[in-house]
Amino acid sequence: METKIYKVSSADSTLIKEAADILRNGGIVAIPTETVYGLAGNALDGTVTEKIYKAKGRPSDNPLIVHISEYSQWAPLVKEIPESAKALADAFWPGPLTVILPKSELIPEGVSGGLSTVAVRMPSDEIARKIITEAGVPLAAPSANTSGKPSPTTAKHVIDDLYGKIDAIVDGGDCSVGVESTVLSLAVSPPRLLRPGGITPEMLTEVLGEIEIDDAVYNKLAEGKEAASPGMKYKHYSPKAQITLIKSDLEAFIAYAKENATENSAVLCFEGEEEAMPIRSITYGKKDDALSQAKNIFDALRKLDEIGADKVFARYPKNDGVGLAVFNRLIRAAAFNQLEL
Ligand code: AMP
Ligand code: MG
Repeated sequence: METKIYKVSSADSTLIKEAADILRNGGIVAIPTETVYGLAGNALDGTVTEKIYKAKGRPSDNPLIVHISEYSQWAPLVKEIPESAKALADAFWPGPLTVILPKSELIPEGVSGGLSTVAVRMPSDEIARKIITEAGVPLAAPSANTSGKPSPTTAKHVIDDLYGKIDAIVDGGDCSVGVESTVLSLAVSPPRLLRPGGITPEMLTEVLGEIEIDDAVYNKLAEGKEAASPGMKYKHYSPKAQITLIKSDLEAFIAYAKENATENSAVLCFEGEEEAMPIRSITYGKKDDALSQAKNIFDALRKLDEIGADKVFARYPKNDGVGLAVFNRLIRAAAFNQLEL
């Protein structure tokens, strides 16, 4: 399949209409959002969403997030919008928060992966919103990567994974947040955080009062336990290398890396630490700056593959605020392999 590439620098670009035409005609198009690039298609057409699963190689029981550009698009997708959901939308939409509610009849089986609920988000990225508006329908848009690989935060990442498999890619530059949206379920009481992201637990608590954090945010899903968020049970964000996340001070980290490195090892460290490292390094943002780590983590994981690293020692991020999202992605990339020195 020929994949068209539209380089778009603002929401005023006339190319957006061309991309939206493809979506209106049942095609699938990778679009930039503030979180990561999404692989978009008409959320109300099951044959389209099937193409999305196929292009990504995504397991069919892993549901898709539906993206809207106007509040009025939300009500038809769900059974009811409770006050708590309205309060969240007022506080955080447009933005990196996905809200799960019982779904309406409009949602095809494929979008919800067989669940009775649907996940909806209104992105803040101007290009994304214009594309949704021009397409004239809500868009299902999971991350535009091959399933299991690190999520794409640049058009190049999308090209590397999906070129030739999808109709078009809208290149709108690098994503500003860099990790996928916060996913919160309002289909249970109290509300449950299923995936941490740019909207932090503290921000949610301020609006909702009590929330619960799903155990899968921190830990490997227990054998035989059903995942509240099906995505959490799959191998994720994985470079080819085996990563060990190491909780220690810089000195002990360096000594450990030196002692345990093999020929193709590398370290994943913070900016400014490269010089001190005994082996080659890839950085993932500034120390104690979760926003910069979030923006860089997926690109760094992909770079580890590019340099052929097979055994990687990674510096431990702080895991509060947005740092919880960085930690959650890294611990999965490491297949929960961690140690404290
Ligand atoms: P992605 O679109 O690749 O960012 O992944 C979407 C994430 O949201 C996955 O982890 C899904 O499992 C999760 N998700 C989407 N819809 C639902 C739903 N109805 N219930 C629980 N989790 C959901
Ligand atoms: Mg994904």
